Amino acid sequence: MLIDTYGRVATDLRVSLTDRCNLRCTYCMPEEGLQWLAKPDLLTDDEIVRLIRIAVTELGIDEVRFTGGEPLLRPGLTGIVERVAALTPRPQMSLTTNGIGLERTAAALREAGLDRVNVSLDTLRPDVFQTMTRRKRHGDVLRGLAAAHAAGLTPVKVNTVLMRGLNDDEAPDLLAWAVENSYELRFIEQMPLDAQHGWKRDGMITAGDILASLRTRFTLTPEGEEKRGAAPAERWIVDGGPHRVGVIASVTRPFCRACDRTRLTADGQVRTCLFATEETDLRSALRSDAPDAEIARIWKLAMWGKKAGSGLDDPSFLQPERPMSAIGG
Ligand code: SAM
Ligand code: SF4
Repeated sequence: MLIDTYGRVATDLRVSLTDRCNLRCTYCMPEEGLQWLAKPDLLTDDEIVRLIRIAVTELGIDEVRFTGGEPLLRPGLTGIVERVAALTPRPQMSLTTNGIGLERTAAALREAGLDRVNVSLDTLRPDVFQTMTRRKRHGDVLRGLAAAHAAGLTPVKVNTVLMRGLNDDEAPDLLAWAVENSYELRFIEQMPLDAQHGWKRDGMITAGDILASLRTRFTLTPEGEEKRGAAPAERWIVDGGPHRVGVIASVTRPFCRACDRTRLTADGQVRTCLFATEETDLRSALRSDAPDAEIARIWKLAMWGKKAGSGLDDPSFLQPERPMSAIGG
């Protein structure tokens, strides 16, 4: 098991498949993009599948989420999903994506064994989308969402970040739209993980702001802690149900005590937390022909050192060197 000194057990593995992206969301990346990882530094498809196999068969991982950067840009994605689906025990598999290209790939991904998707969409307004992502791709995302739903990658979840003065007036409209389309909407508080270090605590929209805005149009009833488990999202029942809305309040209502995640970057580094400032190298072990047991040992040791919390409230908090897009959000 991947256990830490606080008794938490990691069962959920987030795998970043690439640090590249075809959008430039302002809270994530600068307009010019970033210095991408060099191809030889990226894990190969075989290396990724091997690490996931070790995680699933030796370390108790039962859920795998592919992310990035934009994971749909990884040419071998469908093959990776297919090979992970063939593992015993078979983990649950999901994908976090900006939705561009999902229209073309949703059915094949479902066929390969993907269970669910989270699609990021911050606005219903194409002009605001262009301002927030610096690309004219709003229609692609909406079509990707519809294709995911039609392919049975359900429940389709929608991730939304609200930014002051851009889309912070849209929360009730987004929820009405999500209810109508049977998508499950989850708001994510903006975190200090952007490459350009533009996050400011007093500039962010908090969970409190989001709930107040939603309550102008909807009745929200808390779903309760027992249902939440280790899920990062706190959920509310919308207008008596059955629809739910979630808020991931990493900044104002952190959930570190229940965290069950471990992370793998596209260049083969284990991270114990989004906000970790240390990483543990698995790629060198992979490339020096270490046996599975040795790789499992290194991974366990890394998780044993997981810190109690993100440290966001600590005056000495330092933003990790890697931005969100290179960690895997
Ligand atoms: N490109 C994919 C996407 O956008 O869904 C996957 C990677 S992206 C880093 C994963 C999630 O992180 C997205 O929902 C995105 O909105 C969110 N995200 C990125 N930067 C963030 C930040 N600074 N604070 C909060 N969420 C952020
Ligand atoms: Fe790309 Fe996702 Fe970052 Fe937007 S949030 S720039 S889609 S990695």
